Amino acid sequence: MKNVILTGDRPTGRLHIGHYVGSLKQRVELQNTDYDKFFIMIADAQALTDNYGNPSKVRHHIIEVMLDYLSVGLDPKKITFFIQSEVRALPEITAYYMNLVTLNRLLRNPTVKSEIQLRGFDSEDKGIPVGFVNYPISQAADITAFKATIVPVGDDQLPMIEQTREIVRSFNHIYEKDVLCMPKPLLAENEVCLRLPGIDGNNKMSKSLGNCIFLTDDSKTLESKIKSMYTDPTHVKVEDPGHVEGNIVFTYLDAFSSDEDFKKFLPEYKNLDELKDHYRRGGLGDMKIKQFLYKIMEELLIPIREKRKYYEAHISEVLDVLKEGTEVANNYANKTLLEIKEAMGILYNQDFFDEQIKRYE
Ligand code: ATP
Ligand code: MG
Repeated sequence: MKNVILTGDRPTGRLHIGHYVGSLKQRVELQNTDYDKFFIMIADAQALTDNYGNPSKVRHHIIEVMLDYLSVGLDPKKITFFIQSEVRALPEITAYYMNLVTLNRLLRNPTVKSEIQLRGFDSEDKGIPVGFVNYPISQAADITAFKATIVPVGDDQLPMIEQTREIVRSFNHIYEKDVLCMPKPLLAENEVCLRLPGIDGNNKMSKSLGNCIFLTDDSKTLESKIKSMYTDPTHVKVEDPGHVEGNIVFTYLDAFSSDEDFKKFLPEYKNLDELKDHYRRGGLGDMKIKQFLYKIMEELLIPIREKRKYYEAHISEVLDVLKEGTEVANNYANKTLLEIKEAMGILYNQDFFDEQIKRYE
């Protein structure tokens, strides 16, 4: 059986270069492989679980994220794009799964735990919204409704896939039917790409943390963000020996540079190892490595910006892709919902009514 791929993003902001190396780049490669179906979901309902007071932000970013997808080269002929909240089977499936998971299990989820802290939901005046703590279950509904077998994600999402696998196991066991498919996560190969740090040195670049280089940043913004990047506080003068571990500029070079880039932009070094050695020895200034990173990033972003301009000028094409994709997604999810209800014995169709007539005859 061929794979079904499903992945998605929250429309909480424009997409950034963390998304690019952690997931978008891989999706562009994946779209040319052999699979049965490839879905990309704009997870607006999930975004509302921690942005419930700001639905206009979520609404605004649906098309922004869609434009980001198309501008990195994701192809609507190969991928079905859809809006999560427009697929009404998903919350219904979520509701049935909620009976299969304990509250303690949700609260033990390490990503949920750290996000609760990050969003201040652990403070006395706020409290944890039930919808928020429930989002791993809703993610399980998203994945299983499309019978996804492969889910490309960043490493912060691994606990969600594990939760989904537990739900699949218990659903199929309790209702004695293999209705749900077991999904597997797919991670980026390069370790630094699993969780690209923010330009402030925070361990994750994230829309909600305001530490991003966006795919839409213009040259000037890109340059000033790179200039402001945290390096090594002990490397004060050029001749001082420097550290490359924990030095964000080097982390980004690990994620983005290739030997080709050295030939093109910094031919006095063969590769990143040589550059790192020089930095460690001393005698290599921060400005030089930042300039190099800027050239690499600029080369990456130029075609992305160009493509985006095209789609911004042809916005009705973009909207059609989303409308058609959402319809296709509805057909898939509705079909799975019926199978789920049937397995649970709660499909109240003509058979049910005939059965009742017989019972009372
Ligand atoms: P938010 O702050 O609203 O949670 P986000 O920046 O974390 O936004 P998501 O939409 O939550 O972005 O994540 C979409 C996908 O991109 C997920 O698979 C996630 O793991 C991956 N991802 C997000 N940030 C990074 C990053 N810095 N490095 C690698 N992958 C990332
Ligand atoms: Mg996130």
